[in-house]
Amino acid sequence: MALNLHLLPSLRTPLPNPNPRSTHFLLLRAESLRRSSSPSSFSTTLSLGRSKRSARYAILGAGFAGLSVAWHLLKHSPKESQIRVDIFDENGIGGGASGVSGGLLHPYSPKAKLLWKGAECWKECLQLLNVAERVNEATGSNQIIQDFTSKFDGTIVCRRGILRPATSEKKVDILMENTQSSLHCCNLEALDREAAQSLVPGLCVPFDFAVYMPHAVNIHPKRYLQALFLACRNLADESSASNICEERELNLFRETIKSLRQLADEYDAMIICLGAKVDMLPELAGKLPLRSCRGVVAELQLPIDARGEYGDQSPSILSDAWLAFQGPRSVSLGSTWDWKSKDYTSNVPEEEARRAMEELLPKAAAVYPDIRRWAFAGARAGLRAMPPVTPHGSLPLLGSLNFMIREAGECLYWLVGGLGSRGLLYHGLAGNLTAQAVVSCDESVIPSEFTSWKKKREVLS
Ligand SMILES: Cc1cc2nc3c(=O)[nH]c(=O)nc-3n(C[C@H](O)[C@H](O)[C@H](O)COP(=O)(O)OP(=O)(O)OC[C@H]3O[C@@H](n4cnc5c(N)ncnc54)[C@H](O)[C@@H]3O)c2cc1C
Repeated sequence: MALNLHLLPSLRTPLPNPNPRSTHFLLLRAESLRRSSSPSSFSTTLSLGRSKRSARYAILGAGFAGLSVAWHLLKHSPKESQIRVDIFDENGIGGGASGVSGGLLHPYSPKAKLLWKGAECWKECLQLLNVAERVNEATGSNQIIQDFTSKFDGTIVCRRGILRPATSEKKVDILMENTQSSLHCCNLEALDREAAQSLVPGLCVPFDFAVYMPHAVNIHPKRYLQALFLACRNLADESSASNICEERELNLFRETIKSLRQLADEYDAMIICLGAKVDMLPELAGKLPLRSCRGVVAELQLPIDARGEYGDQSPSILSDAWLAFQGPRSVSLGSTWDWKSKDYTSNVPEEEARRAMEELLPKAAAVYPDIRRWAFAGARAGLRAMPPVTPHGSLPLLGSLNFMIREAGECLYWLVGGLGSRGLLYHGLAGNLTAQAVVSCDESVIPSEFTSWKKKREVLS
């Protein structure tokens, strides 16, 4: 992964990684590095770099969207091109909504209807999960990533299978109808009370009907993202060492991006994956059709002296609240919906946690009464970036943003935003399509349904 300093701009020269193959990585601080260079030396190196077909990409945000884009950029870039991918995140990996999410993954709506592009999304997401799991297995359980305090240990997939009991008579018919047209690779099974209770003893199945998704999973989102980042890093290292590809470089900078102008001159393309905080960029503030919605997740534990552990083979549960079981004595309960909130903090004050428990516990207990024996152990929160509802559902907002940005210069700007409440499902496909568009400089590789939000805006701008 040698860096050719003659051809690349000196502005963001990363700290050398003493052992590129090590799973320890240096969290780079760009600010001090950038100060050391002069604008004139930069413009020379930029043109030199371009003549050698080097491409420099900045990805803003290291959540589901940003890391998926990074992986796919490394995958899709032509072998003969030298590329450098710099990821910027003020909080490090998974520091936004992705890191606090419930990690529930399946391609269906709450009524068990297959989502638009559900099959592709499911496939793309599983591929990324496999990539991350392979790295997780290879690095073992005792590696620590030097990123805040989080440890890289344990498995990524916490549990397989998700069960949804019907909670009203009306829902039974809809759920039953939708089970008829499920995906083969993530099928839906209609279960009666007895069958559902054999999966989850003590489950309440008031209408004698539940939908079971045996292949759905719930994952540990931070572990997944950390492993995916390592996978990207390994891919860059391996490609550079292979002699088949030109040099590839991947860096992570812990830095707050205050405006796009801050980086514009340094990159060929910038891919904006800032989740709900995208609205804080002055160039985009108020221009994207997004609504923010804060969600609190409560963590509960079964007291050490209490009997009745949750079975290893029992699935997680979806209802008016969801119960994502991490282990036999730990579960995440989610989540609340506080629309229009601008509270980006992941910390949950005591009063907010109390209100969240008051809201979530009765909903969870309506399907799994035993949850009342579990004790509150903490809470975390994140802000969703909710896109508008379209005839195809709530789709992520993808596409080029140059029409919106004045004085864009030579840099091309792309958005992967509005992943809403299903970011885990959408991030694989959204990242893949966007990376293809970035590499080919061709937005038309993205299905128009994902870019149609722009039509109205283009007329306005
Ligand atoms: C409580 C809750 C539960 C959820 N559960 C699920 C679930 O079970 N399944 C599912 O599919 N989806 C779930 N979601 C939705 C999912 O989490 C989101 O759709 C997804 O995380 C969005 O990913 P993202 O990468 O677009 O944004 P984010 O994960 O928010 O990433 C944006 C990143 O940008 C960084 N950033 C922001 N501003 C700046 C700046 N100015 N400079 C530098 N860095 C910056 C942030 O630190 C952050 O890391 C849940 C969401 C919430 C809130």
